[in-house]
Amino acid sequence: MKVFKFGGASIKSAAAIKNMCEIIRSHANEKLLVVVSAMGKTTNALEAILAAKKNKGTAEEEIQSLLKYHIAICNELFESDHIIFAIVDAIFDELTNELHQSYHYSQLYDQVVSKGELLSSNIIAAYLEQCTTPTRWIDAREYIRTDSNYRGGRIDWRLTEELILHDIARMAEGYVLITQGFIGKSDTHFTTTLGREGSDFSAAIFAYCLNATSVTVWKDVPGILNADPKLIPEAILFNELPYKEAAEMTYYGASVIHPKTIKPLANKSIPLYVKSFDHPDEPGTIIHNCELKDLPPTIIIKDNQCLVSFKVIDYTFVNEDNLSLIFKKLSKVDLKINIMQNSAISFSIVVDYEVTKLERLVEALRDHFDIRYNTGLKLITVKNYAQTILDKYRTDQKILLEQISRNNYRALVAP
Ligand code: ASP
Ligand code: MG
Repeated sequence: MKVFKFGGASIKSAAAIKNMCEIIRSHANEKLLVVVSAMGKTTNALEAILAAKKNKGTAEEEIQSLLKYHIAICNELFESDHIIFAIVDAIFDELTNELHQSYHYSQLYDQVVSKGELLSSNIIAAYLEQCTTPTRWIDAREYIRTDSNYRGGRIDWRLTEELILHDIARMAEGYVLITQGFIGKSDTHFTTTLGREGSDFSAAIFAYCLNATSVTVWKDVPGILNADPKLIPEAILFNELPYKEAAEMTYYGASVIHPKTIKPLANKSIPLYVKSFDHPDEPGTIIHNCELKDLPPTIIIKDNQCLVSFKVIDYTFVNEDNLSLIFKKLSKVDLKINIMQNSAISFSIVVDYEVTKLERLVEALRDHFDIRYNTGLKLITVKNYAQTILDKYRTDQKILLEQISRNNYRALVAP
């Protein structure tokens, strides 16, 4: 069995959906499970609806505009009496209904934001079926089982594997299967999400449990490049990459693939293809077991970074006791360190700037340290650096923190 994953950009319009369905149809002789994200910027729009929840008028406007977007796409794909219009309406009714429930924020978030993938998967399944491709719509929540950690559901691998193995390969006999990325179901039977951009991870979970022969992530780029071509036009495409290299790239912030995607695939040696949906015949990048010598420098830029420094208050030095206190609180508020550094009396970390988590951290530690932070920064990582690149970054940027190891150069820079 093969697993395909299509992200929001590859299904953002009727034309894009038609292109996607052509790609699927050209693989229709293979057993295929297709994982889809929400269409275009739908997830962001659903987040905006939640943010506007208190302001009834604005929320209603946002809902109507998202409904219009989906209906306009359906109008281009289907006759006006098609059942899909009733399905879309029903999902929007459910959405409005969820907004009135008294869940705590994260639980509500998952019930609302998951609607994007339910909409896209229903529309795509109906369109494929209309193109005379026998299709089955699969509810990912019946298979991807998580705990109740809303907005970051942790996978119950044993149960998930059992459920997937029991059904999916059998259902793919003679049918293309369409399911949702990003969503699962908690042990208390509520919808959960796996974290933003989590659809790649969903594809990897299905592939792992199915012992799939490969996963293909279809993107709006030709594959994995050694830099963002929008910033560095001479960026080059990797034909292949070892799992370890790809995993490290996601850790440092390469956004082409969700960080959790590689591990399940590497554990079963399932190759991951990253291919262009505009040029499906081009090979793209394959991530698999391979050894490459002399990898070119790879530049990864993580925006929206925050430098937090903890200064000890009473002339004690930074020591294991106060470090362990900081780490404990970081873990509690679920903030991840992207880079860290210490001096005699101060410990500095760089984290993604997430206001609420940061406020909770400061609150928990303000009695122990003098805490300062600095936002709007960029963390640049150059893997397998060359001296010329170092020289360029060192002269062009205002560097706040810098680390060099044998293979990697990392610098935190101010805008
Ligand atoms: N639709 C979700 C998001 O935008 C999941 C995904 O696209 O992978 O975060
Ligand atoms: Mg997306």
